[in-house]
Amino acid sequence: MSIRKSIFKPKELSALMKFRLEAKRSNESYQNSAKEKEKSLRYCYDTLNKVSRSFAVVIRELPQGLDDAVCLFYLILRALDSIEDDMSLQNDIKIELLRHFYLKNYEAGWSITGVGDKQEYRELLANYHLVIEAFASLDPKYQSIISDICAKMGEGMADFSDKKINTIKDYDLYCHYVAGLVGMGLSSIFSASGLENSGMKLEEARSNAMGLFLQKTNIVRDYKEDLDERRVFWPKEIWSIYANKLEDFSLQPSKEESLACLNELVNNALVHATDCLDYLKMLRNDRVFRFCAIPQVMAMATLAEVYNNPKVFTENVKIRKGMAASLILNANSIEEVIAIYRKMANIIRSKIPKNFSNSDQTDLLLDQINSYCSLSLQETS
Ligand code: MG
Repeated sequence: MSIRKSIFKPKELSALMKFRLEAKRSNESYQNSAKEKEKSLRYCYDTLNKVSRSFAVVIRELPQGLDDAVCLFYLILRALDSIEDDMSLQNDIKIELLRHFYLKNYEAGWSITGVGDKQEYRELLANYHLVIEAFASLDPKYQSIISDICAKMGEGMADFSDKKINTIKDYDLYCHYVAGLVGMGLSSIFSASGLENSGMKLEEARSNAMGLFLQKTNIVRDYKEDLDERRVFWPKEIWSIYANKLEDFSLQPSKEESLACLNELVNNALVHATDCLDYLKMLRNDRVFRFCAIPQVMAMATLAEVYNNPKVFTENVKIRKGMAASLILNANSIEEVIAIYRKMANIIRSKIPKNFSNSDQTDLLLDQINSYCSLSLQETS
């Protein structure tokens, strides 16, 4: 199916073949190294594979040692998020659990059953004692970073559990809690490992932007899925300009108001693009670079796909697998990443509708990204 979609794009087709071959090789080498891991850590990697295939792929980019810390970081936050997302959980119990969840990571044997809105999340929480066991074997310097971020994220999620995302300020704050903090935690982990400069952990604004860019892209793309699940992440301050009710867009996907709202949310995400490039530019380690760059180029390509696209309101829009493969294979250096950003910026520009109230804003943002890219290439050459 995915091969057929890319069949008229020979470059994507060969990228897809190459990517599948490399994935197979990396999976084999992972299977071999996994045999030597402790049972609890092996459980963590197996679970990572189940809860997020895409993250399980990028984590293999990381150097040894760092991968275990990041795997645990991801799973712990995944468990926290599963508590947040479970709409059947009584709110006072949820808030209590969110605020104190970081302490559970030090409570040997702790687990909880029946929480989570998907089977794999319920399993993760039911077997949480294995995560705790693996966490205990991590270097304490990583433990304290993970615990600190888990505490802050839990507080933020609890604050938002009975609050709606009304203003753009709320939107930025919520995205900071659930994604910006992840960026900040990763920067601290990179610094602590010695693979990156100790200054990376101080790059809070850019680390936050890395998370916001990814999170906002997902929120824009997942309109339909979230609507179906009765979750609302689009800020009212923006969508209320274009409709009386958020679900109105799904009824009239091609209407100017619907598309203009969508485009405004893409604009709101594009604001972070140059901060993300700034961040990537600061990285020293090639493998850490790829780990950080791959999700970013995917997000930029997703924004190009969803911009002015009425399908966002009725289905789950995704980039072609061939394109994803080609992006993964071509995010090896800042020059390559910049080339991808430019290409995606051009695609967005070609889709800007005439006479929409926020079309000029898109144009301006793309100009900024393009001049940033030109300047960066002059610097590096
Ligand atoms: Mg959530």
